[in-house]
Amino acid sequence: MADDGLDGRSIDRGRRGLLRGRPAAGPAPIHPPWSRPDYFTALCTRCGACAAACPEAILRPGDGGYPEVDFTRGECSFCGACADACAEPIFDRTAPPWALRASVSPSCLAVQRVVCRSCQDACPEGAIRFQPAAGGAAHARIDEAACTGCGACVAACPSGAVTLTHQTAPHKTGSPSHAVR
Ligand code: SF4
Ligand code: SF4
Ligand code: SF4
Repeated sequence: MADDGLDGRSIDRGRRGLLRGRPAAGPAPIHPPWSRPDYFTALCTRCGACAAACPEAILRPGDGGYPEVDFTRGECSFCGACADACAEPIFDRTAPPWALRASVSPSCLAVQRVVCRSCQDACPEGAIRFQPAAGGAAHARIDEAACTGCGACVAACPSGAVTLTHQTAPHKTGSPSHAVR
């Protein structure tokens, strides 16, 4: 467990970086669904209960030991087991699970005229479509209204071209269609 010298509970990644004299590096971590980002590092005790409860085994200790989602391990089924296992007031199940959206980088094989639709095949929401592009290539397009941020497309991609990023606001107000209720 990392020691930030400030009791480890009330400082986020960006502030740790600044106090160490360098800016925060990389994208913001993806914490478990329904967890409240404004309170997460202040309230999470890093007990690991959420990770132990996750049937998909996609939660692992990240920066500072706080649980983060690793979509290279699989997708979130929105089962809610992580939220149910947490003893702290971190999770809000009345809100959308998160505001994540998939995006596809130019390293996509289809851009290089290699036939691949693995992400489309893996998407449970039908949120990925391909559009013809110049020279016989195809470009993946994400339907932002349909994408739930489940991450199923990440592990399916053979070229590591899919990433999930935080949006400024939840993009889908309803529950994911494959959520276990
Ligand atoms: S909702 Fe279920 S599958 Fe998703 S991170 Fe939590 S325990 Fe894992
Ligand atoms: S994150 Fe899930 S819903 Fe969104 S495009 Fe990927 S597989 Fe489809
Ligand atoms: S799975 Fe990856 S390489 Fe294949 S089409 Fe989708 S983004 Fe491109």
